[in-house]
Amino acid sequence: MNSPFKSLVAVVGGMIIVPTIISLFFYNGFDFEESKDKSYENKREYINHELVYKKSPTITIYNHKKDKKEKIDIEKYLYGVLSGEMPSEFDIEALKAQAVAARSYVFYKKENEDLTKHKGAVVCTDFNHCQEYKSEDELKKLKGEDWMKSSYPKIKKAVDDTRGQIITYDDKVILPLYFSTSSGKTENSEEVFSSKNPYLRSVDSPYDKASPKYTSTFEIEKDEFVKSLKRNYNDLVLSKKDLNSQIKILKKSEGGSVNKILIGNKELKGRDLRSIFNLNSSNFDIDIDEKKVVFNVRGFGHGVGMSQWGADGMAKEGFYYYEILSHYYTDTKIKDIY
Ligand SMILES: [Zn+2]
Repeated sequence: MNSPFKSLVAVVGGMIIVPTIISLFFYNGFDFEESKDKSYENKREYINHELVYKKSPTITIYNHKKDKKEKIDIEKYLYGVLSGEMPSEFDIEALKAQAVAARSYVFYKKENEDLTKHKGAVVCTDFNHCQEYKSEDELKKLKGEDWMKSSYPKIKKAVDDTRGQIITYDDKVILPLYFSTSSGKTENSEEVFSSKNPYLRSVDSPYDKASPKYTSTFEIEKDEFVKSLKRNYNDLVLSKKDLNSQIKILKKSEGGSVNKILIGNKELKGRDLRSIFNLNSSNFDIDIDEKKVVFNVRGFGHGVGMSQWGADGMAKEGFYYYEILSHYYTDTKIKDIY
């Protein structure tokens, strides 16, 4: 006979085990090919949608061009971020992924950063520091009335359709790093920056090839190469004669970037060379011929988090924005907070 205790154990066990199996199935990374065939309704299970309807918050931003703080509705602010951070020609699903990432960035800053850095504002409008932002007036001047009519509604739709959604790991908002173009793989955060984030892992990024910066080359005369390096390191021992034997890549990251490179008597980082020679990324090989040193560079940007061109490539392959986000930000969930 079934005791009430056994039934209880079975019911509770089922409540725990079944959702666990479902979540393992959906969240432990996904197969690109398999995922493509699923219907839209199935795909919605990727979202932890709580359907919260609250008023969107007003935030304070620091406008670095006007040296002034401004109060603005966060969703309106995001129209200006998205217009500046991603081309409107990109697929709507890529734009939505970017909108959710940009929104998450604001909440991450709010919860984790010392706000005195921006005179008390949550974010600034300088893309070198926070995120690019352009007001409607600036956009009108910069892109013209036609763009405002034809493309701005698409930008707004990407923000509106994802209203209130942020990316979380362990129920906390993530630092949603993103960059232009991958080399075919993204980077582990600790191999590029100092901190190790469990959701910023190296993953394949197979759809970046349409990017104009997927590969690039940089050439420099041997003489100038040696001079430039010596300007930066005055104790460097390096001669342009037999340069090949004095340069050796010692270690590459999981994503393929140069971690350590021996140049003459010095061990440098790939990003040291990236900044000296203004390379598109730290993912490169070096060829040396009679006269020149040639860098063959892959991708554009730091390589951590979401690749924007990779996101557009995924979208064009039929992936939805939450699939793009869960691909680039490992083991994360989308949460609706207002
Ligand atoms: Zn800033």
